[in-house]
Amino acid sequence: MARPVVAIVGRPNVGKSTIFNRIIGDRLAIVEDKPGITRDRIYGASEWNGKPFSIIDTGGIELDDEEPILKSIRMQAELAIEEADVIVFMCDAKAGVTGSDEEVAGMLYRSGKPVVVAVNKVDNIGRMDNIYEFYNLGFGDPIGVSGSHGTGIGDLLDAITDNLPELAEDNYEDDVIRVALIGRPNVGKSSLVNAILGEERVIVSDIAGTTRDAIDTPFEKDGQKYVLIDTAGMRKRGKVYETTEKYSVMRAMKAIERADVVLVLINGEEGIIEQDKHIAGYAYEAGKASVFVVNKWDVVEKDDKTMHQFEQKIRDHFLFMTYAPVVFLSAKTKQRLHKLLPVVQHVAEQHTKRVQTHLLNDVVSDAIAINPPPTDKGRRLRINYVTQVTVKPPTIVVFVNDPELMHFSYERYLENKIRAAFNFEGTPIRLFTRRKS
Ligand code: GDP
Ligand code: GDP
Repeated sequence: MARPVVAIVGRPNVGKSTIFNRIIGDRLAIVEDKPGITRDRIYGASEWNGKPFSIIDTGGIELDDEEPILKSIRMQAELAIEEADVIVFMCDAKAGVTGSDEEVAGMLYRSGKPVVVAVNKVDNIGRMDNIYEFYNLGFGDPIGVSGSHGTGIGDLLDAITDNLPELAEDNYEDDVIRVALIGRPNVGKSSLVNAILGEERVIVSDIAGTTRDAIDTPFEKDGQKYVLIDTAGMRKRGKVYETTEKYSVMRAMKAIERADVVLVLINGEEGIIEQDKHIAGYAYEAGKASVFVVNKWDVVEKDDKTMHQFEQKIRDHFLFMTYAPVVFLSAKTKQRLHKLLPVVQHVAEQHTKRVQTHLLNDVVSDAIAINPPPTDKGRRLRINYVTQVTVKPPTIVVFVNDPELMHFSYERYLENKIRAAFNFEGTPIRLFTRRKS
């Protein structure tokens, strides 16, 4: 099921990114351990009261530097109105209600979207009085928060989750592989969709249960059913979020949420840029299977080493996604196109694979025998048993004497051993450590 999207809007310097980081909190800490994920992230996944959601800091969407500030905020608010399910309107208790706050409030109000007003920089009790004037914005109780102290975040999250809509399940059958294509404008997403659908033996079909929306394109090849997610969104041009590269990010996020397999398109002609990393990082974090697709391979001057070198570049840039296979192709000439769907099918299988507990424990026991867990202040981590609890992505719980003793490097060692034994190509694996003696 897709997660609802929460967007933070507000003037510069009110504390949007500070609060954003508070909300994605410990997740970010985990991710920061992994080289290759950059710090200036603008979207992340979170959960509160058992309700998962995605969150985006629209302030981090880079607009043309020439844009006047008010115009930028307006564009960000427009984007939030278009794509978000709940909008957090961030204001500043020190500054009070400003003219641009009022203007943005007007836009948000007219949209009819659920809006939560968060008043930041309430660093002490005295400043609590400052929040009353924010009632005038017309969105009910403003929530006082302090990004510096971390206070009020729980109340803010309560207000956000109270307003989250119940999202309809995608009603595709389990045997349908849901595929999202993501990548910068002009990387060749629509061309690749057309190329896939134009391939021999592809049957563009109505699969039972696909009436949900005309934005997806179902098809079948070699007996396997697929659906391309949000193909309409790719054709939607000229909208405000298409005018700047980063505006496509939010749409991509939603497509990723609904997908099983994410095709991360890279322009073979231009190479890898920072934005490719952001979006791929989100696919990783959302626990989706991924394949790197290097498109426009027809125009790349190559010899027998080019492919290997390009793959190496991908590995260097996406250190956190070494599990994802790389496919080189040309959507235009259809060169190597036939290689793509079998890879998609393969990673989808890995993403839903369940490994029996005894097999998993055999592998982990061997791993421990070869390389015993290190000791920490004289105490040694003892692993009692491991078991896979879910799929999509494969999620494995490691029961130990004391979770504090499990270090990132040892966890990675175990993950590598598990991958070596059971493949899991193309899918992230989640390892959780729990106490059980
Ligand atoms: P953004 O531009 O809206 O994303 O704002 P930032 O999160 O970058 O914060 C802008 C400035 O406000 C930074 O200097 C923060 O340290 C500061 N700031 C953020 N939260 C608080 C807070 O709760 N209290 C105070 N006093 N300062 C804060
Ligand atoms: P999108 O914005 O990601 O959907 O990209 P498009 O599919 O619209 O493609 C952008 C441009 O790149 C178009 O001019 C395409 O003809 C061109 N293009 C797409 N795929 C290829 C390819 O494999 N090789 C070459 N040479 N050009 C391509």
